[in-house]
Amino acid sequence: MSAAPDRRLRRQSTLDINSWTEIPCECGGMASKGAVKYKDYEIRGWICKKCKKEYIHPEDSLRISKLEALKKEHVKVKIRTVGQSLVITLPKEIAEVYDLEKGETVEFLPENFKKLRIALGD
Ligand SMILES: [Zn+2]
Repeated sequence: MSAAPDRRLRRQSTLDINSWTEIPCECGGMASKGAVKYKDYEIRGWICKKCKKEYIHPEDSLRISKLEALKKEHVKVKIRTVGQSLVITLPKEIAEVYDLEKGETVEFLPENFKKLRIALGD
């Protein structure tokens, strides 16, 4: 799960929360920007230097909730044809969670005859 989400998240960020290198911690200390573990994910956040309390980046927290919802949904799509090719469409909610746009390249990683993984990113 270390497929760096940074490139994608940067694009959808509108708040300048992303430029906060430090935030005040409730203990009175300062928490500095860093990778935080949350569930099975490594996401952006801030870690207090004094009490070690971790603060999760709100955008990443929201994104994880959406991803968790998708995992439960088992989204299904029908294969269509365009010309000679078979086409699998990505539903909007998947495109959003993975921050995918037209023109991006994905890589097929065959696992066996029943599973074909899709790798995202450069
Ligand atoms: Zn603290």
